Amino acid sequence: METHEYLTPEEARAQGVRWRPRHAAPTVRSKEREQIRTSQVVLPELTIVGWSGWLCKVCRRVPLRNSAPWSWFGCGSCRAVDARAAAALGGKRLLPLGQHSIMNGVGIRLSTPDGPGRSAKFEQLVSIGQGWQELDQWRDAETARLVAELRDRIAELPESVPVPQWQEWFPASRQASADAYLRLLQAQQPWLLDIEPRLGDVTFLAKGES
Ligand SMILES: [Zn+2]
Repeated sequence: METHEYLTPEEARAQGVRWRPRHAAPTVRSKEREQIRTSQVVLPELTIVGWSGWLCKVCRRVPLRNSAPWSWFGCGSCRAVDARAAAALGGKRLLPLGQHSIMNGVGIRLSTPDGPGRSAKFEQLVSIGQGWQELDQWRDAETARLVAELRDRIAELPESVPVPQWQEWFPASRQASADAYLRLLQAQQPWLLDIEPRLGDVTFLAKGES
């Protein structure tokens, strides 16, 4: 399926689809890179023109493709940080960074009989809906923060800038993701920092594979 073409093996696993080499076809990747290079980030909203997608909702630095219903709302770095935070709490995912519920580790099968199992899954799905609302609130707050920082750096805010310029101003990195993630937790889930103090350590969050 076309929507699965860009998946890494890790993403394919997360989405429960079989990974095949064509998922990583270099021609598709380079076409996508070129598209990103010529797209514009619109200020102050940080929407993208010329690209079907959005900037990562956590760090606001990485363009992500709209590949409904399999879109990611968080970039690879932010997802790695989320996985690290979740692992510290004994889970797989903390934020609902995938558009499809099974990307977030929740699947509800219609064949699941009514009963405690089904209602627990339903509760999880409802909380993911709330998680998305909170994620959008975070996205707006982080957008405002970065734009305010930019206003301090440059004399006049342009209406839009090419994506590479935006990324030069605000480079994506594991550190930037961990920093954004920690501030998100402090703003929205401060109680988690009481339960697991390591979550309050950016260095801890930034560590790990990929
Ligand atoms: Zn990100």
